[in-house]
Amino acid sequence: MKATQDVQLRLLDLQATDTTRAQLAHRRATLPALAELDRLSIQTDEAAAAVAQVSTKLDELDQHIRALEREVDSVRTRARRDQERMDAGTVSSAKELSSMQHEVQTLASKQRDLEDRELELMEQREAVDAEVSAASRQLDQLTRAHALTVERRDTSYVEIDADDAAALVLRDQLVAQLPAELVAKYEQLRVRNAGVGAAALRARRCQGCQLELFGTALAQLRSAPEEEVVYCEECGRILVRTAQSGL
Ligand SMILES: [Zn+2]
Repeated sequence: MKATQDVQLRLLDLQATDTTRAQLAHRRATLPALAELDRLSIQTDEAAAAVAQVSTKLDELDQHIRALEREVDSVRTRARRDQERMDAGTVSSAKELSSMQHEVQTLASKQRDLEDRELELMEQREAVDAEVSAASRQLDQLTRAHALTVERRDTSYVEIDADDAAALVLRDQLVAQLPAELVAKYEQLRVRNAGVGAAALRARRCQGCQLELFGTALAQLRSAPEEEVVYCEECGRILVRTAQSGL
């Protein structure tokens, strides 16, 4: 294949835009914000689960406390009714009176037990309530951090996408100027060689594979006409001779 030296040099410009685009794609895929978002998502899920867990505990305590309150109310009502009947003097038999007095005492003792238990639960409730507040604060902080990181990631995406769009415009311009056959060969080699299809020869070293050319390969290169498209015999990439080739 033949191409003027100017065209061959422009192939290096095309390679440069493709290298830039590959670097941008790599940067986009490996933004620190992405790893941070993975970490924050896990932490946010864990914090939400913790909030749900302590909230359930609080609900259970509240139910328990309400049940105790209802029980206290009913004991109190029963004791009051007994007391009223005794006060009214309508209880005639001594046996019944004694049994009622006994019941009032039993009820009073039961009420004290229930109230002690309720007090204990209220104290527990206070501690669990504090746990709910702490867990909710933690969840809020993580949710805010997650939102800020999403913003940071999206800002980076916008910058990278703008740079990529600019590189693509330049690439399209270069492709339009270059012979289709040369571009096709370049594309084929680029796909096969880790994104680099054309490399400059600098100081007798292929910039694609970094190997220095010696002997016959060097002699062939020296004798090749300027307009001949040549290839690195080590990596197979299009080798573009420049003023710094050291030939
Ligand atoms: Zn090479």
